[in-house]
Amino acid sequence: MNHPTPHSLSRRKFIRNASIAASASWALGRRAWAADGAPALLMPAPPPIKKYGLVLAGLGSYANGMLAPALQETQQCKLIGVVTRRPEVGAQWAKKYNFPEKNIYNYDTMAKMADNPDIDIVYVVTPNGLHAEHVIAAAKAGKHVICEKPMANSVADCDKMISACRDAKRTLSIGYRLHFDPYHRELTRLARDPGVGPFTKISGENGFTLNGDQWRIHHPLSGGGPLMDMGIYVVHAACMATNANPIAVTATEHPKTRPNIFVDVEEALDWTMEFPGGAVATCQTSYVKNYGHFRAEGAKGWIDFQPAFGYNGLKVTTSTGPLDFPPTNQQAKHMDGICQSIAEGKASIVPGEMGRRDMVIIEGIYAAAQSGKRVELKYS
Ligand code: NAD
Repeated sequence: MNHPTPHSLSRRKFIRNASIAASASWALGRRAWAADGAPALLMPAPPPIKKYGLVLAGLGSYANGMLAPALQETQQCKLIGVVTRRPEVGAQWAKKYNFPEKNIYNYDTMAKMADNPDIDIVYVVTPNGLHAEHVIAAAKAGKHVICEKPMANSVADCDKMISACRDAKRTLSIGYRLHFDPYHRELTRLARDPGVGPFTKISGENGFTLNGDQWRIHHPLSGGGPLMDMGIYVVHAACMATNANPIAVTATEHPKTRPNIFVDVEEALDWTMEFPGGAVATCQTSYVKNYGHFRAEGAKGWIDFQPAFGYNGLKVTTSTGPLDFPPTNQQAKHMDGICQSIAEGKASIVPGEMGRRDMVIIEGIYAAAQSGKRVELKYS
């Protein structure tokens, strides 16, 4: 058995960091040298940076359409394996992305990743209700974990996932890509800028028209309807806009217009979030409407996103004019940002605790919708 010991992992981290340092000094040296007018072609090639080996668990639309392509752009990690129920699909991925077939796992063989020192990180992209099981399996195999949003179906599962990663001395990060998007970073910055913030009146809507039978409408796999899938973006952005966690929520579920489809999950929902200091967020999510809007305003300024939460093409205006940032690959920046924090031994920018915070709020919203009462939130 060749389990990665703390020693072997720290040695690998050392080699990787030494490679980064060597590449950086090569780049600096090249710049100084080129400034002297010497021919740059005589320079030696930079030493390669050791990228973290990342395995995607779940090869559905997000992994296939966004994460795998982004992993061709990442600087700090590369796709070296998959976890899938279908070995033939794993073999296609191995061929397409040039990794060995020994790095194809299924959900019952994840423990064997402990014997594979090439794997540093497992990115769990399965249906929500399976996140806890797959994150815990990856942590037990000694791997850092990235888990898609929403973190799990319940706060209780979030606690188990955080404990498993803590026990394994591995990091747990959530798929909150918008923390790496320049427009949403600007939202966070303006919220803290005394010339613009604080924002006290927040509103947001996020939804799409869901058609066909899929895990998203089956409660055991989804944990809920559009609130878990799309509304979570509004919940999260409201916390970014207020730089705070809400203290209470109210909620009302819409009457179902397609009750044959949305049997055990909500079809659409309105909710409010009360923040310390008096800020209020008024929000909506839906599986029968296509929208994506977010607005935060205060006495001194405002910011408005429409569309607000997509992978690209966000349109954002502020009280001092429109914003125009160059296009960014949110997924590549997200994964590289997490790798950077692992390499530096720092806390993740999007840690498991942040995913848990959002699940406390979501559980509160469902409880408020069910009881019709204002629900106070407790985070511990
Ligand atoms: P999907 O249905 O396209 O893919 C799900 C994958 O899980 C499939 O490969 C499927 O084979 C696999 N799977 C494993 N066990 C399964 C089981 N028992 N039942 C069903 N599928 C099983 O879903 P998706 O849209 O890729 O979403 C996956 C996760 O990613 C969800 O948690 C979702 O919320 C999240 N997501 C995040 C973003 C984002 O922008 N961050 C975008 C889309 C999806």
